[in-house]
Amino acid sequence: MNIIFLGPPGAGKGTQAQRICDALGIPQISTGDILRKAIKDATPTGLKAKAYVEAGKLVPDDVLIDIIKDRLAMEDCKKGYILDGFPRTVPQAEALEGIAKIDCVVELEVDDENLIRRLSGRRVCLNCGATYHVSMLGDRTTCEKCGETLIQRKDDAPETVLNRLNVYHEQTAPLIKFYESRKLLKKFDGMQGMEEVYQSIMDTLGALA
Ligand code: AMP
Repeated sequence: MNIIFLGPPGAGKGTQAQRICDALGIPQISTGDILRKAIKDATPTGLKAKAYVEAGKLVPDDVLIDIIKDRLAMEDCKKGYILDGFPRTVPQAEALEGIAKIDCVVELEVDDENLIRRLSGRRVCLNCGATYHVSMLGDRTTCEKCGETLIQRKDDAPETVLNRLNVYHEQTAPLIKFYESRKLLKKFDGMQGMEEVYQSIMDTLGALA
């Protein structure tokens, strides 16, 4: 199954997508992770994307469409995948229609107040990508999974978080109508506990399979 995870930053797309991909044995394709790796490795794409990502702005559509075209052509995508963070604009969604057939769009809904709290308190492991919230960490400063130091992403700084939410409402939220009109959209309450959200999504995907 080819699935899109749609929702504002901090809605839990990455966490849920990772778990569901593990359960279904399909790859999680996070354009944010791909861009962060490109920036870290200072590739030509990374150099182009750096200023946008750090400011919480969207990287130009043509860059993202090229990344996705290359990634979806890889062997491991043949049995399905979850797109986490793509598409984020209507032109990206239109381009995707020429590249892939999407079976379901999972939308996670969380209100802005909770998103700000989640993102500003988020800490990530630069090595394995695991995410934590400061409220759960206590004195801990390293990753439980791999021992690497946890950091705050530059774009999780409070002033950038507000910018990312505005970008979501202006440029990405129109995709809700886009996919509703194609009868692909399934909405989930992202304010529920992680386990409940996971079960609801798995039940819905199970019914579609
Ligand atoms: P994320 O980890 O999904 O929150 O993405 C982090 C940042 O990467 C975003 O704030 C954008 O700067 C950039 N990015 C990720 N995916 C896309 C996309 N589909 N279109 C444009 N920019 C993107």
